[in-house]
Amino acid sequence: MDDFNFDTLAIRAGQVRSNFQEHSEAIYPTSSFIFKSAEEAAARFSGEEEAHFYTRVSNPTVSCFQDRLAALEGGEMGLATSTGMSAILAVMLGTLKAGDHVLSSRSIFGTSTILFTNILAKFGIEFDFVDLSDLDAWKASIKLNTKLLFAETPSNPITELVDIKALAEIAHASDALLVIDNCFCTPALQKPLALGADIVVHSATKYIDGQGRCMGGAIVGKKSVIGEGIFAVLRSGGVTMSPFNAWVFTKGLETLNLRMKAHCDNALALATWLQSQDVVEKLYYPGLTDHPQHDLAKQQQKGFGGIVSFVVKGGKDAAWNIVNNLTMLSITANLGDTKTTITHPATTTHGRLSQEQRDDANISDGLLRLSVGLEDINDIQNDLARGFK
Ligand SMILES: *Cc1c(COP(=O)(O)O)cnc(C)c1O
Repeated sequence: MDDFNFDTLAIRAGQVRSNFQEHSEAIYPTSSFIFKSAEEAAARFSGEEEAHFYTRVSNPTVSCFQDRLAALEGGEMGLATSTGMSAILAVMLGTLKAGDHVLSSRSIFGTSTILFTNILAKFGIEFDFVDLSDLDAWKASIKLNTKLLFAETPSNPITELVDIKALAEIAHASDALLVIDNCFCTPALQKPLALGADIVVHSATKYIDGQGRCMGGAIVGKKSVIGEGIFAVLRSGGVTMSPFNAWVFTKGLETLNLRMKAHCDNALALATWLQSQDVVEKLYYPGLTDHPQHDLAKQQQKGFGGIVSFVVKGGKDAAWNIVNNLTMLSITANLGDTKTTITHPATTTHGRLSQEQRDDANISDGLLRLSVGLEDINDIQNDLARGFK
């Protein structure tokens, strides 16, 4: 379907109909597939014949999701994983060995930092962290054993950006891979592979599902990059996606573009309103003209996204007080939902980081993160106004 445009691919790519000719995508909740003979079983296990034989390795519903997401990201191949974290884990395990060095942005999802410094470091993989937008710092921190650069753009929670094209050039000058966590933008707003990234990872749990139902993750890239080492981690490490979840995500992709547009519209309206609120000390949203990387966001993204963060006067007590006086917004760590959610990062998503790590990532005690949903903007605004009062 190479000639088709985004909205068409989102609805039709990846579907392979069964003999029943079902119109909507089928779900195949089966752990294994049967063979006509011992010979066929042997040929399929050895890879001599390509077919589904065991759902840990591949499954038609999961393939549909993988192929559809790969089409939307403009990648050759997609792999689906049980969660966003296991996608990141599989990329690291599949491309690195003891003695390799990874250069990562400081402002990444809190659990990603924990995975790198507390778990993968135990196996002899070295990590260094740099300021996301500081290209000179990335360049200066590359070492002879640097094999992979990892970044999230825009970052969670303070919506900082990096120039993906420039970062890809830095990575490739040292034969390192560039991995971009595209969770906040999704391919509807940003296509890192087209800008030079080698691998895109996703938490499908967020906007790809879009309604807060399922956990899942994904990896997209060239077949030569993800088809062997990383696929081997899924096959033997077993962090595969369930067929039911893959089906939910496949249907989620069908409305992704529409939903992302609506998230962006609501987020911009809310950020604009927040600018006029006395209690707001600092506001982070790439769609505002005073965001330090507003121009880069316009150039690199199709929209500014649905995440708005802000620091309130009065630190943690004031932030908690606001959260506790809301009646509609959901107090929950998930994001990318049709329901607007509010989080106090310093004591939740980034609570396991040290104070120093939080300071480095600009997670102050008064910071609140909103994942702006699709409710009526006036109701979202009124609820926050209640909290501010
Ligand atoms: C949530 C999230 C993850 C982890 O995904 P899970 O599905 O929760 O494992 C990774 N990166 C970013 C940017 C996220 O927001």
